[in-house]
Amino acid sequence: MAQGVAAAVVSVVGGGLAGPEAAFQIARRGLRTRLYEMRPRVSTPAHRTGGLAELVCSNSLKSEALHSAPWLLKQELRQAGSLLLDCAAAVAIPGGQALTVDRVAFSTAVEARLRALASVEIVREEVADLAALPPGPVVIASGPLTSPPLTAQLERLTGGAGLYFYDAISPIVDAASVNSARVFPASRYGKGGPDDYWNCPLDRAEFDRFYAALRQAESYPLHAFEEPRFFSACLPLEELARRGPETLRFGPMKPVGLTDPRTGRPPYAAVQLRRESQRADSFNLVGFQNHLRQAEQARVLRLIPGLEEARFLRFGQVHRNTYLNAPALLTPRLELRTRSAAAGPLFVAGQLCGAEGYIEAIATGLLAGLFAAHAALGLPSAPPPRETALGSLIHYLTASSPAGYAPANITFDLLPLPPELAAIGDRAARRRRQCDRALAAFRAWWQEMSDVASPAGLATALPQPR
Ligand SMILES: Cc1cc2nc3c(=O)[nH]c(=O)nc-3n(C[C@H](O)[C@H](O)[C@H](O)COP(=O)(O)OP(=O)(O)OC[C@H]3O[C@@H](n4cnc5c(N)ncnc54)[C@H](O)[C@@H]3O)c2cc1C
Repeated sequence: MAQGVAAAVVSVVGGGLAGPEAAFQIARRGLRTRLYEMRPRVSTPAHRTGGLAELVCSNSLKSEALHSAPWLLKQELRQAGSLLLDCAAAVAIPGGQALTVDRVAFSTAVEARLRALASVEIVREEVADLAALPPGPVVIASGPLTSPPLTAQLERLTGGAGLYFYDAISPIVDAASVNSARVFPASRYGKGGPDDYWNCPLDRAEFDRFYAALRQAESYPLHAFEEPRFFSACLPLEELARRGPETLRFGPMKPVGLTDPRTGRPPYAAVQLRRESQRADSFNLVGFQNHLRQAEQARVLRLIPGLEEARFLRFGQVHRNTYLNAPALLTPRLELRTRSAAAGPLFVAGQLCGAEGYIEAIATGLLAGLFAAHAALGLPSAPPPRETALGSLIHYLTASSPAGYAPANITFDLLPLPPELAAIGDRAARRRRQCDRALAAFRAWWQEMSDVASPAGLATALPQPR
């Protein structure tokens, strides 16, 4: 067994945030790991250096506020001995309540820690063909700006339909700011729960006024790497409007299947607000993904009846982001379903697996590394329990509806809220209990995963749960 372990090679493609974490988790389980990073030879439109673990934009790894959702996810990763969080702690700089790092020192620390491991080989090459990798499990963590040849291969591997090139994000409004006297609850054709959607009906004059304002609204300029190659299924609102008013009335503003209770007839046009969370305290504007400047979004969207006073929790966005339709394509072990068994297991991590954000990339890298290592060793593995932040993230990735899937950051909305916790009125107390419950479940799961590995003498480097 020990010889087999030493001989096995696990390939990791991408040396951003998810890849190095995955490589570390594989290496500490006694396996040889080859980490492929194409920079500095080939770069992406967003990266500026050739270093591993480059933070492409902000240098914040999100909130450290006690009992916040990003804090909980980081606590779980710390329990699991995350390399990147360890490096972040070593190079942290003052950043208020956020874990903020010196980005150069962070990248340097991650690379140095991996280079110090004899079982990790860092290969500075673009992976254009997965078939050219050594036999054995593969983790793909090539990120939102995966290079074109690998993107093309992933398109073929996933049958084309499951790979997105843009994040098209719809605005979200605070439910309390919607004028309930103007909207009516109803699902189209009466399908689904009556409260799943709120509908904003528009008469002809209201629609014309909205359309004219939308046509004149100003968009953000696209970056060089954001050439307009939109999916026909999720075109930005302003692009639909450019094609004519009827494109909107037969698209996201179609009134069919809805009856306005005030008139007893379908409205001329309608905007549907879809419940965003279990608690129905926020709603997204269905099909209203757009690239308008935020001030313009607020001005134009407040012309919609019922949204005159809307408070926007998130504005719409469209930006380049290559990611898989995770619920359709990935198992809860982050393994690609469409890869043939003969080709070997292929795990996906980071932004490419449909998670959003730095910490979420590190988290999915850690998990994919664990799962790939166990696959190479012939060991069983189980996803983290649902009540943990990591388990909830995986649940979101793999159990959401594939229709219109969009990547998400960790929030409490993803975590389950059993009745005994929902009954706690004080928000701070409720979240503290949710976090305690999550951390206890995580500790037990981590112990179980470590116990699975240790009989074969492979877990010597694994940290004990804290
Ligand atoms: C412009 C931009 C800004 C962002 N800003 C933030 C932010 O401020 N905060 C936040 O939380 N999230 C942000 N994100 C989202 C996301 O968290 C980051 O993209 C994060 O870096 C994702 O980690 P990753 O490991 O999946 O991908 P990356 O960190 O991008 O790593 C992927 C690596 O794979 C390499 N690679 C690609 N193709 C190949 C190939 N064929 N062969 C070998 N190597 C390859 C790339 O060079 C890269 O180093 C941003 C995303 C983008 C695109």
